[in-house]
Amino acid sequence: MRAIRRFTVRTVLPEPLAELDVLARNLRWSWHAGTRDLFAGLDPQVWEQVGQDPVALLGALSRARLAELAADDDVVAKVRAASADLAAYRERPRWYQRQTGEHLPDAVAYFSPEFGVAPTLPQYSGGLGVLAGDHLKSASDLGVPLVGVGLLYRSGYFRQGLTRDGWQVEHLPVHDPDGLPVALLRDRTGEPAAVTLGMPGGRTLRAHVWVAQVGRVPLLLLDSDVPGNDDEARSVTDRLYAGSSEHRLQQELLLGVGGVRALRLWSRLTDAQDPAVFHTNEGHAGFLGVERVRELVEEGVDADAALELVRTTTVFTTHTPVPAGIDRFDRAIVASYVEALDEKDHLDTDRVLALGAEEHAGGDPLVFNMALMGLRLSGRANGVSRLHGKVSREMFGPLWPGFDPVEVPIGSITNGVHAPTWVAREVTDLATRRMKPHDSATGAGWVRRDLVDDVELWELRTGLRTRLVQDARRRVRASWQARGAAESELGWVDDALSPDVLTIGFARRAATYKRLTLMLADPERFRALLLHPERPVQVVVAGKAHPDDDGGKRLIADLVAFADAHDVRHRIVFLPDYDMRMAATLYPGCDVWLNTPVRTREACGTSGMKVALNGGLHLSVRDGWWDEWHDVRHGWVIPTADGVDDPAERDRVEAAALYDLLEHQVAPTFYDRDERGVPVPWLAMVRHTLATLGPKVQATRMVADYVAHMYEPAARAGATLAGDDASGARELAAWKSRVRAAWSDVRVDHVDSSGVGDAPQVGDTLAVHAWVSLGGLRPQDVEVQVLHGTVDDDEQLADHTVRALTVTEELEAGRWVFGTQIELTGTGHFGYTVRVVPRHEALTSATDLGLVATAGD
Ligand SMILES: *Cc1c(COP(=O)(O)O)cnc(C)c1O
Repeated sequence: MRAIRRFTVRTVLPEPLAELDVLARNLRWSWHAGTRDLFAGLDPQVWEQVGQDPVALLGALSRARLAELAADDDVVAKVRAASADLAAYRERPRWYQRQTGEHLPDAVAYFSPEFGVAPTLPQYSGGLGVLAGDHLKSASDLGVPLVGVGLLYRSGYFRQGLTRDGWQVEHLPVHDPDGLPVALLRDRTGEPAAVTLGMPGGRTLRAHVWVAQVGRVPLLLLDSDVPGNDDEARSVTDRLYAGSSEHRLQQELLLGVGGVRALRLWSRLTDAQDPAVFHTNEGHAGFLGVERVRELVEEGVDADAALELVRTTTVFTTHTPVPAGIDRFDRAIVASYVEALDEKDHLDTDRVLALGAEEHAGGDPLVFNMALMGLRLSGRANGVSRLHGKVSREMFGPLWPGFDPVEVPIGSITNGVHAPTWVAREVTDLATRRMKPHDSATGAGWVRRDLVDDVELWELRTGLRTRLVQDARRRVRASWQARGAAESELGWVDDALSPDVLTIGFARRAATYKRLTLMLADPERFRALLLHPERPVQVVVAGKAHPDDDGGKRLIADLVAFADAHDVRHRIVFLPDYDMRMAATLYPGCDVWLNTPVRTREACGTSGMKVALNGGLHLSVRDGWWDEWHDVRHGWVIPTADGVDDPAERDRVEAAALYDLLEHQVAPTFYDRDERGVPVPWLAMVRHTLATLGPKVQATRMVADYVAHMYEPAARAGATLAGDDASGARELAAWKSRVRAAWSDVRVDHVDSSGVGDAPQVGDTLAVHAWVSLGGLRPQDVEVQVLHGTVDDDEQLADHTVRALTVTEELEAGRWVFGTQIELTGTGHFGYTVRVVPRHEALTSATDLGLVATAGD
C-alpha cells in the first residue's frame, strides 16, 4: 500500500554523544581516517551494512546500543576528541591565512553542475564532479574561503547494470535529502529559505537550498522538488545530464541565476561575506554573470559598468576540447527565459543574447552558446592542462580574429586530485610511520629506500592489489547474479584474477574518443598477453556510457563479450557501476593505469593521478596531464599515429604499439624479480612516481595556483573597478565604448626600418619606425607593438616577441610616429610586423576588446 505521507524520524543522540551528529554531517569524515574509525568502532557490523555512511549509521543504531555507548567513558572521550579536532580544523589559521597578498578575497564562489564529494552524497556523473569535490576539499584543507554552489538532484546520475548479453541498463535511485549529509537552509522564522525565478508563461520556479558542510567549505545545493512548484518546475532538478534541451536550460538557469540568489540568501542568513570572485567550473553555470549584471543594474550601476565589474571578478574554467562538447541552446528559447526571469526589466535581452552569439565564421546565428557566454563574461579563463590550454586557444581562436592562437586569452591550470581522499589507507599508514618529523604531510620523503625497503614496498603494493582482486571478485559475482546466472555457474569467480599477476586498470566514461576497446583491436594478440605462461597480464575495466549513447553502450557490450569468454574470464573483468566507492579500491590496486584517448581529446584526466599517488605506473597516449608530466620513470608513452587520417588505421597502429609496450617493456619489468621475489627496477619506478609525481598531481597545488593566478588578481582588479562608487568600472566602460567607436580610423600607415645592412648579423640593432593614424584616440589609448621572431617558409611568424614602441614625433592631427630598437639575437630567418592594440591599465590582456590594426591590413 502506498503511503500518502512520509517522514524521516531522526535519532535523538544521548547528550554525551551529541557531537556525533556534527561529525556525521561534516563530510570531512570522508577524508579523515580517524573520524571514520570512530564511526566504525560504534558498531563495525552496522557500519558495513549501511555502506560506511555515518548519517545512516546513527539512524540505524538502536536506542539501547546508543545508551550503552553513552555510558562507555572511552567512547565518549573519543567522540569529544574527534569533535575538538574538527573544531580546530575548521577554526585555526591554515595556508591561506598565512598568505600576505593584499587582495586575497574574503570569499570565492565556486559553481559546478555536479559535485563528487563523498560516496554518500552521489551528486556527480564522473570526472568533472569529482574534480569539483576535490577542489572544495583541498580549498578546505588550505583554508581558502570557498563557497560551493550546485544543484541537488533527486536521482543523481544513473547506476549501471548489465543484461545477460552485456548491454548497459540504467537504474535511477531516488535520494531522500533527509537521508543525505545535508541540512536545509532556513530563514529567521524557521521556514525553508527559498529562491524564486520567473519562468515563461507567468510561471514561477522555486527552489530550497540544502547545505552540505565540506570541512570548512559550505556547499549550497538548490532543489526544485518543493511544495508550491508545478510538476514541471518540480522536475527541474530530477537528474543529472538527462532530459530535453529545454530541461537542461532550466537547470542551468537555476544553477547560475538561482545559485547567485542562493548565495545572497546564505550571506544574509549566516552573516557570511559576499563572494568577491565567482569561479565557474565549465560553462553550465554561465548565467551567474547575467544575474550579477542584473543585480548591479538594480542597484543603480549602468549596464556597461556592471558588465565590467562582473567580467573582472569572474573566472571561467573550460573542460571541453571539442566544439561538440559545448552546450548550445535555441536562441529564441533563451530569449523567452531571460525576459521571464528579469521581472523588473533591468536587462536588455538583446545584449544578453549577444553574449552567447556565434558571430565568428562558421557560427550558427540561431544558437546561444554557453562557452562563448562564459568567455565573454569572464576576465580570466583557463583550460585544465597545458596541452588543453593550447587546444582551447586554437578552438576558440576564431573569436579573436587578427590575433594568433598563442595570444588567445585562455591560460591553463593543470588539474589535481585530493590526496587524503585518494591515497589508500595502507599507504598513508606506512608513510605516517616512516615520515621524519620535518617531512611535510603531502611530501613523499618517506618513500626513500633507507626508510622503506624494497621488500616492504612490494608487500604494500601486493596488499593493495590483493584487496582489489577481492573486491573485483565480489563485484563480478554480484554482476553475474544480476545478469541471471545461477550460483552453480559461478564457481570460477573465486579464481578470477590473481593477487600476483600484473594488473592493468582502465576505467572511464565509455565515450567513443576514449577508445575503451582499443585493447581489443587484435583479439588474438591481446589474448596471448593475458594468457602468457610466464608473464601474464590481467585487466580490470569499468565505465558508464551516457544513457543516450548507443555507440558507447556497444563498446561496453563488445568488451563484456570478450571478457565473458571462458578462456580469458579469469584475466579480464568488467565491473559495472564505476563510482567513487569502486575507484577507492581500484586505483591503488592497479600496477598500471591504461589510457588510450584519441590524442588532444582528453582535457586532463585525473584518474591516472590518483593511481600515481598510490605508486601505480602510467601507460598512456601523451594527452592531458600526461603530455606535460610523462617521464620514463613514471611509466610508458604509447606513441600516437599523428598524421594518420584514417581512424581505423590509426587505431590499428596505436594498438600495435600498446601491445609491443606491454609485451616487451611493461611485463618484463614487472616480472624481473630478484632472489627475494622483488621486482627491483619496477619498484624504482614506483618510488620515483611517489616522490616526484605525487606532489605535482595534488589538488592543493591546483587550488594554490587558482589563488595566485586567478582569485587574487581577479579580486584585486575587481576592487580597483568597484571603488569610489564603481567609478573605475564606469570609466573603463566609457573608454571601451570610445575606443570601439574610433577604431575604424586606427591604421598603421607605413613602417620603416634601418640599422642593418644587406647582411645582418647577430648583435646588429634594428631601428623600427611606424607612422600611425589614431583617428580620435590619443597615443596613451593604444600600444603600438612590433612583433618579431623567426619566420617560416610561408612568411608566418612562427614564434614572436612583443615590444612596445614609443612616440617619437607628432605629425598633423591624429597621426604620430612611433619607434623602437630591436637587437638581433638569433640567426636564421627573421621577420617582424607592427600593430596597434588598445591599452588601458584595467584590461586583463591586449586581446580584451578583440580589436587590432596590423600593418598591411
Ligand atoms: C577521478 C574520477 C573520474 C575521472 O577520471 P578521468 O581520468 O578524468 O576519466 C571519474 N570517475 C570517478 C569515480 C573518479 O573518481
